[in-house]
Amino acid sequence: MEPARAYYYRDKLLKIIEAGNPYKVAWQVTRRCNLRCKQCYADAQTEQRVAENEMSLEEGKRLMDDLASMGECSLVLTGGEPLLREEIFEITEYAARKNLSPKIATNGTLVTEETARRLKDAGAFQVHVSLDGPDAPSHEAIRRVPGAFEHTLEGIRHLQQAGLPVIIGITIMRSNYHQVIPTLRLAAELKAIVFTFNDMEPCGRGACEQQSEDITPEEREELYQKIFEESERLKGRIMVDKFDPSMWHRVRLQNTRDEAQRQALLALGEAMGGCPAGRWVCLISSVGEVRPCAFFPMVVGNVRQQRLSAIWRDSPVFHALRDAGNIRGACRLCEHFSICRGCRSRAYYYGGDYLGADPGCVIARDIQSRTGDSSMCSNEGRGPIGS
Ligand code: SF4
Ligand code: SF4
Repeated sequence: MEPARAYYYRDKLLKIIEAGNPYKVAWQVTRRCNLRCKQCYADAQTEQRVAENEMSLEEGKRLMDDLASMGECSLVLTGGEPLLREEIFEITEYAARKNLSPKIATNGTLVTEETARRLKDAGAFQVHVSLDGPDAPSHEAIRRVPGAFEHTLEGIRHLQQAGLPVIIGITIMRSNYHQVIPTLRLAAELKAIVFTFNDMEPCGRGACEQQSEDITPEEREELYQKIFEESERLKGRIMVDKFDPSMWHRVRLQNTRDEAQRQALLALGEAMGGCPAGRWVCLISSVGEVRPCAFFPMVVGNVRQQRLSAIWRDSPVFHALRDAGNIRGACRLCEHFSICRGCRSRAYYYGGDYLGADPGCVIARDIQSRTGDSSMCSNEGRGPIGS
């Protein structure tokens, strides 16, 4: 990232954090989906019954009014598959009117020429399309519906023809570990503006698959390194980013030699402060539950009972996550703590302590063996909470 751009984002983020507001809120407009992805954080289902208790359009509008009253913020309309919700265009239009820069997170398979045009007309700002492999066999082994790959590619073309910027995102797991770099190359060929990646996190169906699909800390380190190298090769063609900066920002910083660029990245990283869960992001589920992030299976309130602005301001869990001094164990002792602080969801899943060390990191493991800190659980041996 160019220094000027890094400082621009740093200043913008700092302004929002200092005002006590979220930077990005995701609203799961439905839990229905036409695919059956093995890692789905929402445990989305094809049956209509999962839509029975979802927030109504009126409830959604109240949520958006509240969000808009808090100040500058962007809203991600996610699912399930958000395009299965008939009111998606009305929701998008309302969010745009409220200056919430609505982004749509879709699997892309249902995007026709008309859908893409209507999303554009409604004021969608960007569209995030998920792609879990560079070809039909690898993508569909995860998405578990034949034909999904071609439909997704077609959807991407329609979106771009309608003038909507497309972000392509992958969820990293054992099944596609060797397909991440080819998928990044494909995203560049498809002219996506950004390629984004996430680790598979222990949420929804991801929790069931976690034991077999989570990669080891060593594999994660090696892969992030390869992603960095490839992102350098593709510089100017596609930007590579991660929903949460944490470890990725650390790898980026460790590999940046130019001093001006390093300083700018460091300034941005310190402003972001690593894992953003409950600090500058959160998720609202289809039934109004508020969670620290999409991949963090802890409910801290419900917008049906209390305004999001009040939950955001008062939640004890959010307060705990915001104070870096609360983080314990190896992460707290790490030299990269100020720009990473580890994945709080992974710490929660493997160790039962969302303020504990992140067991998915090689550095945390080294610190643990050096200091004899026994508070961290391995993500290879011991199982998840409750097992
Ligand atoms: S030890 Fe924790 S803070 Fe340090 S790099 Fe690893 S996850 Fe991040
Ligand atoms: S807990 Fe933090 S690092 Fe982990 S998935 Fe959520 S935002 Fe990302």
